[in-house]
Amino acid sequence: MIIGVPKEIKNNENRIAISPAGVDALINAGHQVIIEKGAGEGSGFPDDSFVAHGAKIINSAAEVWGQAEMILKVKEPLPEEYGYFREGLILFTYLHLAPEPELTRALIEKKVAAIAYETIQLDSGALPLLTPMSEVAGRMSVQIGAQFLEKPKGGKGVLLAGVPGVQPGNVVVIGGGVVGTNAAKMAMGLGANVTLLDINPDRLRQLDDLYGGRLHTVMSNSYNIAEAVKKADLLVGAVLIPGRRAPRLVTEEMVKSMEPGSVIVDVAIDQGGVIATSDRVTTHSDPTYVKHGVVHYAVANMPGAVPKTSTMALTNVTIPYAVQIASKGLERSLVENRPLARGVNVLNGNVTYQAVAESLNLSY
Ligand code: NAD
Repeated sequence: MIIGVPKEIKNNENRIAISPAGVDALINAGHQVIIEKGAGEGSGFPDDSFVAHGAKIINSAAEVWGQAEMILKVKEPLPEEYGYFREGLILFTYLHLAPEPELTRALIEKKVAAIAYETIQLDSGALPLLTPMSEVAGRMSVQIGAQFLEKPKGGKGVLLAGVPGVQPGNVVVIGGGVVGTNAAKMAMGLGANVTLLDINPDRLRQLDDLYGGRLHTVMSNSYNIAEAVKKADLLVGAVLIPGRRAPRLVTEEMVKSMEPGSVIVDVAIDQGGVIATSDRVTTHSDPTYVKHGVVHYAVANMPGAVPKTSTMALTNVTIPYAVQIASKGLERSLVENRPLARGVNVLNGNVTYQAVAESLNLSY
């Protein structure tokens, strides 16, 4: 199969849908890989690094889309890319179709086989192509928080690690899933005093088994949240209720109870945020604002700041699916691989993913 990888055109998107290791895997499986010139530069992969493993560099996006049988991307296609759609083309990317009626219509009309990274789902319910980005964001949250706690960055001037003779900083993480666990791990690694709250007692038990006395696990309820928040130097919001807006667990009063110069990193901002005062999304170019004396960081695409790591983390999990589709063909792959079949959002001119069909009022 010919696999094409165009350059991402969304604003500030520096990731690419393949790494040199991915090229290697597809070429070894007997396929051809064509990549748009310069597509890997934002992730630190020059064209030569792909050519060295057998990829061919192509000058224009139109040629990549035109020659490929399967397109690998990172973000959903933008309107200027819809013209490249054609019957039988396989598109494998993050799609997030629910708020995208125009894109969905274009995929239906052109009978593209569209597989969304975010809806590939294991029998356990886990979403394996979302996990790596949560790992990245969770780990980043503490690095970012530590940075904004510095006085010249607007923070209170606390070193999370402390030093001999001086207490470490207090990190409070609300939500103990992928983001929260990775945030807690980083904070413990720094030597901070870490408290994690989750609503799921089994999750708290697992984390207690893993980290013992190094991590204070606390049941998530409004009383415990209020108690923890007022002592937090760094507060990380990491709650997810699948398919729903994040619950506002930290009230404005709780934020007011924090010391001036404390920092909130609301990772769950992409689902609306867990903190009452993180009421707007910020960007990498202007990442923070101050409310009630507390520094708020609310960037919705945190992994975008570390594209080299994010590209490798993403392609580690996407490429095995791409190799299967290329080697066995789409039809057989969907029969043999249930998690992959759950990823199909549009096929043969029909929406095949219930939640997308319902949110766009389309037949399913
Ligand atoms: P996850 O499903 O792995 O974990 C969510 C956790 O929240 C679960 O452990 C759950 O028990 C817990 N929870 C639910 N209700 C709770 C409550 N009332 N109190 C405390 N805990 C509660 O999800 P995740 O992968 O860790 O993602 C967390 C959030 O981070 C999501 O909104 C996700 O979209 C977001 N995210 C943002 C970025 C970014 O760049 N900003 C990047 C990746 C993920």
